[in-house]
Amino acid sequence: MRLFDAHNHLQDIQFNKKVNKIMSDCNHIGLTRMVTNGTNEHDWKTVSALSNCYPQIIPSFGLHPWFINDRSSKWLKLLEQKIDNHDGAVGEIGLDLLKKKNQYSEQKEVFLSQLQLSADRNIPVSIHCIKGWNQIYNLLSDNPLPKRGFLLHGFAGPAEMINPLTNLGAFFSFSGSFAHPNKSRQRNNFCKIPTDRILIESDAPFQLMPDNFITHPLEQKINHPANIKSIYKFAAECIGKPYEELTVIAEKNFLKLFGNQML
Ligand SMILES: [Zn+2]
Repeated sequence: MRLFDAHNHLQDIQFNKKVNKIMSDCNHIGLTRMVTNGTNEHDWKTVSALSNCYPQIIPSFGLHPWFINDRSSKWLKLLEQKIDNHDGAVGEIGLDLLKKKNQYSEQKEVFLSQLQLSADRNIPVSIHCIKGWNQIYNLLSDNPLPKRGFLLHGFAGPAEMINPLTNLGAFFSFSGSFAHPNKSRQRNNFCKIPTDRILIESDAPFQLMPDNFITHPLEQKINHPANIKSIYKFAAECIGKPYEELTVIAEKNFLKLFGNQML
């Protein structure tokens, strides 16, 4: 069985010095490809170094809304270079109006310039959105998008947005944190997503599943990307399909969205 992790952060400092063992665990469970998302100018170089070492990694580079205050004046130029030198994807980018509501206009500007990079090159883009669903929908509707589509990672938006976002080309990834008891809305939403738009993600080292699902424990509640097999199994149960069928669906969707980044 070939498994695909649509969104993680293997470059995170919490994985420091453990990456070799982690990648061998991932190979062991059949995790074939993973999209590793940079989030700020400082971690882009780690993402590129990791992708040079491990062919399973599809490098993705982006400026996450949490880190826009730290950007240098050259950030966009640097980002463009990283993407072009590594044949990478764009992300993680997005809007977060929970913590940083007051910065909306700046978040919007940073988001749109990165969205433009992905549209110009027709490369995949991974989007984070918290509490800004109307805003993000309007921005996606009014601006050029990559023709291949885009990923809404860890999709926790409202059910009524699923169809309009699907019509714009959205793929939606299911995260392990949806196994927590208070995430029933997110689980139910996944039953409404068209089968040809579903992807599975670990978001490792974040979004850990409840303890009884964890196959690869790490200290301090760090999520290991090889827990993704449990996430697939749980997602299959939620959407009412056999695990094997979901692996075929997720592979097809992953290759459709991230395919050219694998050459
Ligand atoms: Zn993420």
